[in-house]
Amino acid sequence: MNTITIPDAAGGWEAQSRGLGQTEPRDILNSIRAVLYTWDMVSDALSWGANVRDVLGALPAAALLSEAAFTASVSADCVMTRYQAIKTSSMRDVGAGAPYRLAYNLKTPAGAQIAVEDVGRWFADERGRPVRAHGVLRVTGEDAASPSATGDFDENAERGICSRPRMVRAINDLCQEGQGRRAPFAVVVAGIEGLPEINLRDGYDAADLVISAVARRLAENLRGTDLLARYIGGKFAILLSSGETEQVDVAVRRLIRLTTQDLVPTHTRAIPVRLRAGVAIAPNHGRNAHRLLQRAEEAFDLAAGRPEGFAVYKADASLAEARRGAVTAADEIVAALNERRILLAYQPVISAKTGRAGFYEALLRVRRDDGTIALPAAYLPIAEKSGLVVQLDHRVCELAFARMAAEPELRLSVNLSVATLQDPDWPDRFAMTLKRTPGVASRLIVEIIETIAVANLDSLTGVLAQIKALGVRIAMDDFGSGHTSFRNLRRLGIDIVKIDGAFVQNVARSADDRFFVRTLAELARHLGIETVAEWVEDAETQKALQGWGIDYLQGYHLGPAEVPQEPLLLKASA
Ligand code: C2E
Ligand code: CA
Ligand code: CA
Repeated sequence: MNTITIPDAAGGWEAQSRGLGQTEPRDILNSIRAVLYTWDMVSDALSWGANVRDVLGALPAAALLSEAAFTASVSADCVMTRYQAIKTSSMRDVGAGAPYRLAYNLKTPAGAQIAVEDVGRWFADERGRPVRAHGVLRVTGEDAASPSATGDFDENAERGICSRPRMVRAINDLCQEGQGRRAPFAVVVAGIEGLPEINLRDGYDAADLVISAVARRLAENLRGTDLLARYIGGKFAILLSSGETEQVDVAVRRLIRLTTQDLVPTHTRAIPVRLRAGVAIAPNHGRNAHRLLQRAEEAFDLAAGRPEGFAVYKADASLAEARRGAVTAADEIVAALNERRILLAYQPVISAKTGRAGFYEALLRVRRDDGTIALPAAYLPIAEKSGLVVQLDHRVCELAFARMAAEPELRLSVNLSVATLQDPDWPDRFAMTLKRTPGVASRLIVEIIETIAVANLDSLTGVLAQIKALGVRIAMDDFGSGHTSFRNLRRLGIDIVKIDGAFVQNVARSADDRFFVRTLAELARHLGIETVAEWVEDAETQKALQGWGIDYLQGYHLGPAEVPQEPLLLKASA
């Protein structure tokens, strides 16, 4: 990019232009409603091509200053933001950048929606972390602010075409209906073939005519219960309310035939239309919009060159699928966060003296597409690798604080990963979330794993002090596996140690473990630190631990971790 425009922070459009101006093919960019940008991922600053006002003039100038500000203008129905797409990418930059491609809607202050396609490449530093992205943002459609309640239909464009967010919502709603027991339905991605050639040969106006003719023909030939949306550029997404294999086959063949049988008259010539389609069927191929559209796109790629012009997604354990494993798991986490499928299970931590719950440990659970509940082991490794664990921990805190607000006597502990504790933005975000639910801090305990705390002693001391300053207590988790000196327990301000279940589990059988657990308990008592024994699995172990003066007991023998249907304290006293 040779010209960069930075809208001034005051919100005005008095552009500061660096570099030249004459050579930028501004007219060309404007004719395809595209603007170039660079994103400095370290400072978060966005810089735009000189025609940014022509293309994105409906957005406030302040929204273009940084990625954070820009993301605030992205519609909430967006499947994935640019940041998430890059963060969870399975690609690596080996010198020439790694590609990304997205489509989403931007909201203007006037309430209108601008559909955009965002294509670019990101570049990494020596350590492989993304630091910079270059891309082009192209407007593919606009929904004027609608006075109607839905605001989802584009009044200016072809009738019967809804916006992409509306489509995503409709698919997700259908997925949720009847928890997957409803009849199958199909998601189709259909694209016009040869658009670049039409653009070149006949011009953009002619290509636009072809796109709107196809949109009209598709809309005319769908049933009332089906739904059509613009997807990206010359691509459409279609929701067919019936997903029985034979009916889908007939419907897609018919749509392709009816859309392509007539030429589109334009000022240059009558242009033949070719349409290609990929189909995914719910619930078999996915149980959310993101997954279904992704699979329909894969089928779309598969359909290239097929005489019938379409393909249905086929689940197979192919190599490509395996390679995508990591990114799919990260996608899953993003989808679970977006779709509010993060849940908490609570396990009681029982006072050894009174036999009542002193507090509960909040444990992460993810409700999968098929309704089953996954344990953290299925997600944490990939969440930690991709950095998404910070978002997961944040969501866990939000959920835990909400429950504490609803149950004013309830004390909870939450687990935080080292990535969360080391995220420079986290302390402020945590403090702000806490502030929103007054009365929670003094009932909250943060658990950190011993081995991690010891390995990052210097960097964690400050954060832990910040947490404590809010009135929150700190527990060292899996204690005994990391050889923390007692001096360090003091230095980190640890209030509670949770003795690693691996030692507690065998107390009844192993003299070594008995000695070890007992010694830890005595030393902690000398330091005035409370003790929890984890993984108490039988009555004999419970009795021994009580005899040694352990303060709290946790484990299957005393109560499992459960996703509660009712208030926890009500249950405990029942
Ligand atoms: P943890 O913090 O040590 O949590 C205790 C784990 O031991 C839980 O597994 C719990 O279900 C299990 N457990 C409880 N009682 C017994 C018992 O008597 N015997 C045995 N063998 N196991 C018992 P879970 O829920 O699968 O969690 C696994 C780990 O995932 C946790 O270990 C914690 O390190 C991590 N984790 C859980 N939730 C979060 C979270 O919100 N954020 C982060 N960063 N990590 C989390
Ligand atoms: Ca824990
Ligand atoms: Ca533990």
